[in-house]
Amino acid sequence: MRALETVLTQKGYVERAALDLLIETYETRIGPRNGSRVVARAWTDPEYLDWLLRDATAAIADQGYAGRQGEHMVAVANSPQRHNLVVCTLCSCYPWPVLGLPPVWYKSAAYRSRVVRDPRGVLADFGVVLSPDTEIRVWDSTAEVRYLVIPERPPGSEHLGQEELAALVTRDSMIGTGMALTPGLSASAGQPPKAAG
Ligand code: FE
Repeated sequence: MRALETVLTQKGYVERAALDLLIETYETRIGPRNGSRVVARAWTDPEYLDWLLRDATAAIADQGYAGRQGEHMVAVANSPQRHNLVVCTLCSCYPWPVLGLPPVWYKSAAYRSRVVRDPRGVLADFGVVLSPDTEIRVWDSTAEVRYLVIPERPPGSEHLGQEELAALVTRDSMIGTGMALTPGLSASAGQPPKAAG
């Protein structure tokens, strides 16, 4: 990405400032931080959680996030009894307004085919080991419906405010290939980017 960007900028195809704005938009404004804020609100507001589970499109739009590839959203909540995992077996359908652009692995044939056959194995590859008693439910995204996973609120987060809670909600935890971060533990891969400044 950086190498291509350098070439395009040097040759005058792309203006440096325009490119920075585009990257910044996808990394911070339209990106997993949007979904993180939705989840943090759901963790702290039972009425909002109820609304999100009943009509995710409206509840997410209430946060100001709407648009292409987010017209028909469904939110699914993780619990000790059930872990939700999202895929698009056909291509790469993904909820852009809340998660931004899909990660490269989400579009890979390996993920798309294996998640259906062996979800527990895929989760292990991502470092997520669930209790054998936890049911795994795989949701196949389509052109019509996009899914947002509400990860379990981590222990030790009871005293945190919404912005601090949102920082615990990784992109992968909202796809189902990760868990929310535990406060106080060092950050791992997949943590949403920090806002500038
Ligand atoms: Fe698709």
